[in-house]
Amino acid sequence: MKCGQCNSDDTKVIESRDVDTGQAVRRRRACIVCGYRFTTYERLERPQLIVVKNDGTRQLFNRSKLLAGLYRACEKTQVTSMQLEQLVNSVEQQLYACADQEVPSGKIGELVMERLPAVSEVAYVRFASVYRRFKDIASFERELSQIRERKAGEAAKV
Ligand SMILES: [Zn+2]
Repeated sequence: MKCGQCNSDDTKVIESRDVDTGQAVRRRRACIVCGYRFTTYERLERPQLIVVKNDGTRQLFNRSKLLAGLYRACEKTQVTSMQLEQLVNSVEQQLYACADQEVPSGKIGELVMERLPAVSEVAYVRFASVYRRFKDIASFERELSQIRERKAGEAAKV
């Protein structure tokens, strides 16, 4: 692995550990020439997922695009990038587990929305409003009260 600073080939691994519950390896590296430190991730290469959009067109599943959308939804909230990474990992895992190489884009949105309320209610509502394009304020409020009821139900169980 070349140094990102001086382009030297002389780098060494200082630390290596499993992340994402063993699905990736994170390595801290240091350049022997200039001392620059950087991080690399190694993860399993999987077959590409094809996303089928509502209009029938297809495109490759794009993890960073999904993350970017989530970051937008989580603006000015307490949600950490680690939480979002985990959420996307879990969505990805489920998509790959479906075995089908083609997934409807709606399926991805649904998987995200199943997980988002636990992370942030605000982010969920923002994501859902873009995703579902709430037709009116009433359906939006219905959605919100459903989350609250669900949360209250879960709290009552504990
Ligand atoms: Zn260097």
